[in-house]
Amino acid sequence: MTHSQTSEYLVTGGAGFIGSHLTEALLARGDIDDLSTGNLRHVNHLMDSANFHFIEADSSDEQILGRYASNETIIVHLASAVGVRLITDEPVHTIESIVMGTRAVLQCAARLGCRVLLASTSEAYGKGDSTPFREGDDSLLGPASKSRWSYAASKLVGEFLGLAYHDQFGVEVVPFSLFNTIGPRQSGRYGMVVPRFVRQAVLNDPITIYGDGLQTRTFCDVRDVVQALIGLALHAESPGRIYNVGSGDEITIRALAERIKGITESRSDIVYVPYEEVYGRGFEDIRRRAPSTSRIRDLLGWQPAYSLDETIGQIVEFQQKEIQDKH
Ligand code: UDP
Repeated sequence: MTHSQTSEYLVTGGAGFIGSHLTEALLARGDIDDLSTGNLRHVNHLMDSANFHFIEADSSDEQILGRYASNETIIVHLASAVGVRLITDEPVHTIESIVMGTRAVLQCAARLGCRVLLASTSEAYGKGDSTPFREGDDSLLGPASKSRWSYAASKLVGEFLGLAYHDQFGVEVVPFSLFNTIGPRQSGRYGMVVPRFVRQAVLNDPITIYGDGLQTRTFCDVRDVVQALIGLALHAESPGRIYNVGSGDEITIRALAERIKGITESRSDIVYVPYEEVYGRGFEDIRRRAPSTSRIRDLLGWQPAYSLDETIGQIVEFQQKEIQDKH
């Protein structure tokens, strides 16, 4: 191990869904966030901790990053535009914030000599159907005329840039590719299916399946993801290659809707909505998505501990509380 358990962490996107769970687990010292999809409420309960320092800033500001980081710091770069809806509505913000933010973090790390964990996405594998996706598989992205792919392409540039900083300048960069991650605090506002279905089910509103519902995904509990990230942050051999982080249990969206309806004992109808009604013409969904996680398992012995039903149960509790608090 090159990094002790008492390392300092600087988490960009620390008030986001995954970031707030990570900072909770780390009780870190530094934290950068522009709060575009994050929420201060996610970290309010950490504000009083002496080991937690919150900074509201843009993660593409290298000077601010440099002010709070040192060569002892492990930067976990989670800040990013996320959610299919935000991405298709705001492609300029998506591309610029991802590329500039990643560049700033890598420049800062190169200057100070610190380690960087760089969040990428399973979207960067694109629409290839050779599931499970293995690190090193080809990316099969759609054309630039379809804005959905701007997110994947920008994240892929981030992976290239991260590995280039590692190979050319010797920066300890650990890119990781997040598959669908779920848990309390994730917002359904930007398209994410599980918080949306849970909310619809709890309110007995129609559960909206886009397309025919036979597309598949895997859903990993954020607590498992956080353990994977901490493991990668601390392991001496992790830099210089990308790691898939996700669950191996593939489920159709139709089966997911039924599962959530059953767990919540909801009276919701399950309805089918054409993609173009939601995302406009020419939207391409990913038909199948599942990771191979043998690389991270071989390095860390990591594998998910929580079942889908357990995680859905937690999200149901969280959403019921949110709905109650609003009334
Ligand atoms: N989806 C759905 N209903 C919703 C939101 C999403 O059927 O209300 C579908 C979406 O079309 C996709 C899957 O659920 O096939 C996962 O969507 P999400 O946006 O959560 O993640 P991603 O597409 O990035 O995997």
